[in-house]
Amino acid sequence: MRLRALALLSIASSVGALSAQSPRPYEPAFDVGDYAITLDLPDTGATIRATAVLTVRRVSRADTLRLDLLDLDVSGVRVDGRAAAFARTADGIDIALPARRAVAATFEIGVDYGGVVRDGLIVRQDTAGRWTYFGDNWPNRARHWIPSIDHPSDKATVTWRVRAPSTRTVVANGRLVSRKPIRDGSGADRTETVWREAQPIAPYLMVIAAAQLVEYNLGDTACGLSEQARCVAQTVYTAPEQQSFMPGPFLRAAEIVQLFGRLVGPFPYEKLAHLQSSTRFGGMENASAIFYADGGFRRGTMRDGLIAHETAHQWFGDAVTERDWPHLWLSEGFATYFAALWTRAARGDGAFRAELSGVRRTVLADTMAVARRPVIDTIETNLLALLNANSYQKGGFVLHMLRGQIGEGAFFSAIREYYRKHKHATAVTDDLQAEMERASGQDLQWFFDQWLRRPGFPEITATTAYDAATREALVTLKQGGRFGEFDVSVTVSVTDSSGTARRATARLRPNAGAVTLRIPSATPPASVVLDPDVELLAALHVAP
Ligand SMILES: [Zn+2]
Repeated sequence: MRLRALALLSIASSVGALSAQSPRPYEPAFDVGDYAITLDLPDTGATIRATAVLTVRRVSRADTLRLDLLDLDVSGVRVDGRAAAFARTADGIDIALPARRAVAATFEIGVDYGGVVRDGLIVRQDTAGRWTYFGDNWPNRARHWIPSIDHPSDKATVTWRVRAPSTRTVVANGRLVSRKPIRDGSGADRTETVWREAQPIAPYLMVIAAAQLVEYNLGDTACGLSEQARCVAQTVYTAPEQQSFMPGPFLRAAEIVQLFGRLVGPFPYEKLAHLQSSTRFGGMENASAIFYADGGFRRGTMRDGLIAHETAHQWFGDAVTERDWPHLWLSEGFATYFAALWTRAARGDGAFRAELSGVRRTVLADTMAVARRPVIDTIETNLLALLNANSYQKGGFVLHMLRGQIGEGAFFSAIREYYRKHKHATAVTDDLQAEMERASGQDLQWFFDQWLRRPGFPEITATTAYDAATREALVTLKQGGRFGEFDVSVTVSVTDSSGTARRATARLRPNAGAVTLRIPSATPPASVVLDPDVELLAALHVAP
C-alpha cells in the first residue's frame, strides 16, 4: 500500500491493540484452505450478520482450533456440520475438534457471528449521506470482521456472498459469479452478489466494497499476459460525483499491467478493479480489487505512479506474499521499485533516475528506521511502524543496486523465476537471494547482509586534486563511520573546463582505507560528480 501524506503519525498513535504481535510460527498446527463468507449488510449503520465457513487442514497434533476474531458476537460454531463447543476469548474463538480423528484431517468450520463492526470493514456515510462499506485489513485487521487465521503466512481462496440493498454495487476479490435479487418475502429491494477468488490470498487482502458506485470500463487489457483468462479485464469504480474524473490517471492502467506482465509473468488474478474507497491508506493493493483513498478522486490529484505501485503489488505482496512481517520489503520495496520501472517505461531514463534520486533522498534523510534498524527488522512489534523508509525506499533501492550488481538480464531472469516459484504462495528474503545467485552465478550473501541485515548506508567523501604534469584529476574516496564501512563501487565523473566528461569507477572495501582514482582531464576539473547515474545508495559528498 502507499501511505497518505502525513498519515503515519496519526496511524502510529492509533495502533493500540494492533501492536501485539503473535509468536512465530503463527498457527503452526492449522492451515486454512478456503473461506466462504456470507455477509448481510444493513440498510443503514454498522450492524452486520455473517456466517463464515472455513476449510481447515490440521497439519500437526492439536485438539483446539484458535481463530482470530475481535469485537463481534459469536452465536454458534459447527464442525463438519455439527454444533460444536467453543469458547469466546478476548481476541478469538477456541473451537474443540472431534477426538479420535487422524492428525492430518480436514475440518469444515462454520461460524455464525455478528454485531457492530468497529474496524476491518469500514462503515461510513459519504459526503452525500450514502452508507458505504469497504474492507481495509492491513496488517491484521481482518480479524475485526472475519473469523480467520489472520497472518500472511496462511493464504486461502475466498468466496464472498454479500447481501445488501440493491442500490449498492458490491465488488470483491476474484470473479463475479452471480448477482441476483433476494426474494425473502420482506419486500425490501435487496441483492445477493457472489464473488469468488480461486487463487489463495492473505487475509489482509480479503475485501468487499458495497457502496453506490459507478463503473468505468477500461476494457480488456494485457491480452496474452493474464494467467486466469486471455486478457485482464480492468474496471474503475467511483462515487457517482467523480465519474467525470475518469479515465484520468487510469488512461494508462492497461500499459502498466502490460509492462509488469512482460517483466515478471502473467497477471495472477481473474480481473483488476480499481475503487474509490475509504481505505485509511493512500492506496491498498487488495488482490484483484485495489482500493484507493477517496481524496485523490475528489480533488483530482491522483497520479499514475500510485496506480503503478498498487498494481505491482498484485505480483509482489499479493501473489508472492512475505511469509512474515520482517520480510515486508518483498512487498513494499518491490512496489516502490516497479513503480520506478513504470516511470522509466512511460517517461524515459531521466525521469527514472530522478525518481530514484528522490527515493535515495528519503532514505538518507530518515532518522527513524533507516539509521536504527535493518530492512529485515525482526525486533519491531508494531506492524504499522514497519511502513517506513526501510521497507519502501531502501528496499526499492536495494533492488535497483541488485540489478546493477548482476546486470539487467540476470536480474529480470531471477525476478521471473522467483515469481514463478512462489506465486500463490509465500516467500522470504532467502528465496529471492537464491534466485539472484542462480541467475548470476555470484555469491550474494555479502550483498544481502550489507544492505538488508544492518542499518544505515555508506557515507562517502571525495577530495580532488589536479596533476598538471600528467593532466589527470586525482579523486580520493573515503568512507565515513556512522554506519560502518561497506563494500561498494563508486563511479566518478570529472568534467574539464571545455565540458568534456570522463568517468572512472572505484571499489571501496571495508577497512581497506581510501582509494584514489586518476581520471584524465585536460584542465583542472570544472566539476566532479559522484554516482552520476544514481546507482548507489550512499550519502555522497565532494569536499570543496
Ligand atoms: Zn505498497
